[in-house]
Amino acid sequence: MRSRRGAARGERPALLLVNIGQLLTLRSEISGPRRGASLSELGIIEDAAVLCLGGKIVSVGRTKDALRDPWVKKNQRKIVEVDCRGRVVLPGFVDSHTHPVFTHPRLVDFEKRIAGASYEEIAEAGGGIRSSIEGVRKASAGSLAKTIARALADLSRHGTTTVEAKSGYGLSLESELKSLQSIRTAAREFPGTVVSTLLGAHVVPPEYRGRSDEYVDLICNEMIPAVAKRKLAQFVDVFCDRGAFTLEETERVFATAAKFDLGVRAHLGQLTETRLGTILRYDPASLDHMDYVNDRDLPALAATNTVATLVPGANYFLGLARYPNARRLIEAGVAVALATDYNPGSSPTVSMPMAMSLASTQMKMSPAEAIAAATINGAWALRLAGRKGSVETGKDADFSVFDVTDYREIPYWFGANRCVLTIMNGAPSGSGDFLGRDLGQR
Ligand SMILES: [Zn+2]
Repeated sequence: MRSRRGAARGERPALLLVNIGQLLTLRSEISGPRRGASLSELGIIEDAAVLCLGGKIVSVGRTKDALRDPWVKKNQRKIVEVDCRGRVVLPGFVDSHTHPVFTHPRLVDFEKRIAGASYEEIAEAGGGIRSSIEGVRKASAGSLAKTIARALADLSRHGTTTVEAKSGYGLSLESELKSLQSIRTAAREFPGTVVSTLLGAHVVPPEYRGRSDEYVDLICNEMIPAVAKRKLAQFVDVFCDRGAFTLEETERVFATAAKFDLGVRAHLGQLTETRLGTILRYDPASLDHMDYVNDRDLPALAATNTVATLVPGANYFLGLARYPNARRLIEAGVAVALATDYNPGSSPTVSMPMAMSLASTQMKMSPAEAIAAATINGAWALRLAGRKGSVETGKDADFSVFDVTDYREIPYWFGANRCVLTIMNGAPSGSGDFLGRDLGQR
């Protein structure tokens, strides 16, 4: 089998995208994640072209200039040309928060919730996260890898080219390692980019009930060292909220992660308000959910590169009337990203456009803000902004092509997938005839 790395470097043909109606480059003079007014800057080029070589972007400009370029003229036969026919092209989405390691949909929870049971009542009744734990513990690494691979393919069909993937339904040393190994196996066959996160601190597993201290010991003394040794994750995540882990426990996990040179991130403020306290000292890449956040913490947060990642799919699916207050965060200068929170319990969606649509209709983010939050700020949330999230020379050739003529249509047509082509590290993959027809031209 041809390796992904081999395919990504050198073997990939030169790729020229032409006749792009609107190219959203997301380039900016701003250093650091987008905040405030800069969140709306899309850097649009009309009638644009992009040339890519060896999986990297080598030039960005107008179609007429690209076609006149002497190198392009000379190498025409070696170049795969994609005629975008006036469609919108943007950087591939960076979905910076997903939980793809699970075995089955949680249909009992779904029905119970519709009938009026709360998140916590479902958990008390043996549903919720605990039912996913049983599935993952019993599953083989091979079957988990297959499920993850399917999810990655689904995500990419909706325009996502970079995916953060968390463990967190194993919650034993063995099952967390198995989960991360399965992510690695699936990622090897995926043309896009996967960033792995250890979420051993998702909930306290049933066998440690009432002994969360001892479970945190397991995370710090065994899971993190084992994961670091095998280089199975870039980040360590903690679900810091009522019913999960306290701020003190979160800081213990963060301090251990730092010792092993792993980045940190947290689920925070989904169910209750947690003051940030000294958590920013650990330089978390992102704090996710943020439905409940204290106004007095916003200036400190805005002064850092820590991204507030909002996941409105969870609010939607849980049937909540309340959504994170994106406007308050943006106005305070906090860097905001959007992600799907793809998971079987509270957000079974692979669609970044759906998350963006919810951000627009429920959180009053403009379509432009939603796009920047789903691309460049998602890249910041994974500390990958040097390579991902915008269409600029030297960055990875990651794009999504949408069958629309105006970028505002991406969050507008909710519930329909208008993504017709995804290019990941220079490799195009997409829906049938559009790709076949255009790539066969030369
Ligand atoms: Zn989550």
